[in-house]
Amino acid sequence: MRPLINFLRRVKHYTCGSTDDGHHSVFEFMGAQWLIEGSRAFTHEIIRHRVASYWQESQRYVDYSKQNLRYCVPANFKADELFNSLSSAYLNMRASEVSPENARYLLPNASCSRLWVQMNAREFFINFLPLRTGNGAFHEIRLIAWLMFDLIIKQFPITSEWVWQNLPKLHPDYCRGIKDNTDCRIKSIDDAFKIWGMKIPNNLSILMNTKL
Ligand SMILES: Cc1cc2nc3c(=O)[nH]c(=O)nc-3n(C[C@H](O)[C@H](O)[C@H](O)COP(=O)(O)OP(=O)(O)OC[C@H]3O[C@@H](n4cnc5c(N)ncnc54)[C@H](O)[C@@H]3O)c2cc1C
Repeated sequence: MRPLINFLRRVKHYTCGSTDDGHHSVFEFMGAQWLIEGSRAFTHEIIRHRVASYWQESQRYVDYSKQNLRYCVPANFKADELFNSLSSAYLNMRASEVSPENARYLLPNASCSRLWVQMNAREFFINFLPLRTGNGAFHEIRLIAWLMFDLIIKQFPITSEWVWQNLPKLHPDYCRGIKDNTDCRIKSIDDAFKIWGMKIPNNLSILMNTKL
């Protein structure tokens, strides 16, 4: 145990020095896992990140005639009637012996899907976060990327602060579409949480209000 603890101390120490000098491979020794529910539009995007590992709710084996069909949409997206008729069509197919794997052809991008993702810190902080909190990214993956960040700020305080400071520099297209002097990170957060009608969580708020 002792050598392991010493090794981890060294990794922690080295991590502080490796952010600025670009020696990022040491970040591969730490990471996190998140259990997320989002639309299939969102899950289709996150799984493009090949360095992460995933488990995802199956539409082949989960039979939605035995549990509710769930739809994940932004706060002002009003399509209840359409979703009700899609749910009825799915249930009618299941009632006429069509298998879940075929009945799922009716399900839209808005269908909710649970996904369990594991990323090492290099993938999360240096690749995923700059790409997916950038202002060109889809608002749902932007919202979820910020929520993922919020959940681990306390676990990785030094790295989180460094990444927060450097986000716009880590991706050349981070401030896409922003022409004035607005802080692109704040714009990305305000916009995504507003679209989804959600309150900005605590750890993220603290970072936003800290003068670094
Ligand atoms: C705003 C935005 C718009 C997008 N629009 C589209 C679109 O219209 N169509 C579309 O198809 N995709 C689109 N994407 C997805 C994008 O092309 C990437 O697939 C996705 O962002 C994953 O990025 P990545 O490959 O860097 O991540 P990962 O797969 O997690 O890879 C992380 C890093 O590891 C390295 N790496 C991983 N695999 C390899 C490999 N085989 N060879 C060499 N190096 C490797 C690379 O340095 C890579 O950056 C979009 C993404 C964003 C953010």
